[in-house]
Amino acid sequence: MFDNLQERLGSILNGLTGRGALSDKDVQAALREVRRALLEADVALEVVRDFTDRVREKAVGAEIVKSIKPGQMVVKIVHDELVSMLGSEGVTLDLNAPAPVVIMMVGLQGSGKTTTTGKIASRLTKRDKKKVLMASLDTRRPAAQEQLKQLGEQTGVDTLPIIPGQSPTDIASRAVQAARLGGHDVVILDTAGRTHIDEPLMVEMATIKTKANPHEILLVADALTGQDAVNLARNFDERVGITGLVLTRMDGDGRGGAALSMRAVTGKPIKLIGVGEKMDALEEFHPRRVADRILGMGDIVSLVERAAETIDQEKAQAMADRMKAGKFDLNDLSDQLKQMSKMGGMGGIMGMMPGMGKMKDQMAAAGFDDKIFGRQQAIISSMTPAERANPDLLKHSRKKRIAAGSGTNAADINKLLKMHRQMADMMKAMGGKGKKAGLFGKMM
Ligand code: GDP
Ligand code: MG
Repeated sequence: MFDNLQERLGSILNGLTGRGALSDKDVQAALREVRRALLEADVALEVVRDFTDRVREKAVGAEIVKSIKPGQMVVKIVHDELVSMLGSEGVTLDLNAPAPVVIMMVGLQGSGKTTTTGKIASRLTKRDKKKVLMASLDTRRPAAQEQLKQLGEQTGVDTLPIIPGQSPTDIASRAVQAARLGGHDVVILDTAGRTHIDEPLMVEMATIKTKANPHEILLVADALTGQDAVNLARNFDERVGITGLVLTRMDGDGRGGAALSMRAVTGKPIKLIGVGEKMDALEEFHPRRVADRILGMGDIVSLVERAAETIDQEKAQAMADRMKAGKFDLNDLSDQLKQMSKMGGMGGIMGMMPGMGKMKDQMAAAGFDDKIFGRQQAIISSMTPAERANPDLLKHSRKKRIAAGSGTNAADINKLLKMHRQMADMMKAMGGKGKKAGLFGKMM
């Protein structure tokens, strides 16, 4: 069901290779597929609309980086925009307030509030050496307070003693008081939920907030929440005022579209994600990973980024012209080697390209592999400009001098010269067919 957006866009756009910029029509066609991918990932409709509008603005007229297919270019723009909407890396709990710092957990019933309370408390205790108190304010479900008490025993975190008959707001006040007396750094309030948003729930949350004055109010939501995510996040944010989001069940097979929906309507950061039932199944939120998951794609984005960063357009064009004219000297080879190692070497480039294994083998057989890049560069740098421009000059005595200068031997130099000859022949053949791309342009 979750096929790859890259492939879908490929079939629409890859016929366009060679054009300089994305046209309105190209982008419209691509955005239909993007919209479908987002809806399949459970992103709320209104967010999808807003998102595709933003992408359209950025994409129309965008220049297609040389050696990259238009479909890949659109995926890159979509991906960048998604990462930017999902927010920046490394936003985590803010405990920068006088102790005891109050964290209030809110959300619907079954969203994972109690579990997440235990996870956060356990992490703060073990990793950050904080003294934490947990308190259950859930007086609606009979076993709720007991559930938290058990998590406390399991993780070695203090829980507020249960006094039957107290109201949620009274428990909140008592928890803050107990934390103050007990010298706790942090107190986490685990509130009650409902199966859906209703007025009494919102009133209860607002009252607890006033009483306990929390520094963090985290909305806990199931990552599988679909179209409801928007309503849920908007309501809690408007009525209670949240400071961040926690998405649970990210270990499930959902694509995490709720992350985008909730982030988009509240503008509040996703601070943590739950990835299992166990107490250590809590992770930081990484926008790029979630963007990949929503789009259902692999490494193509980083390939496009690296290519865009490292390929020097003018140089590539100049080299292409030389090759077309049948010229490919050792200066050109040196440039190609530099460009290649900047892009992560053979493995870096080809590992990301499906079906490239065979070509990689062929080039390795010709002596063209990552390990000898450095040595080859050293050999070329030890040559004079005249030798680089005309390798035929390289007779025995010159080779001896170059071997000494580069810390290599005559066999290494012969290998390099042989590789250069093979590549020059290949270039000439390509040039003869009128192809304009450089070696690496050709590969992609
Ligand atoms: P609450 O009603 O909001 O307090 O929800 P609970 O914390 O009681 O969680 C409801 C159920 O979801 C429990 O069975 C939890 O074990 C489970 N749960 C919570 N977080 C996660 C998660 O990140 N991944 C998975 N797979 N299950 C979770
Ligand atoms: Mg609970």
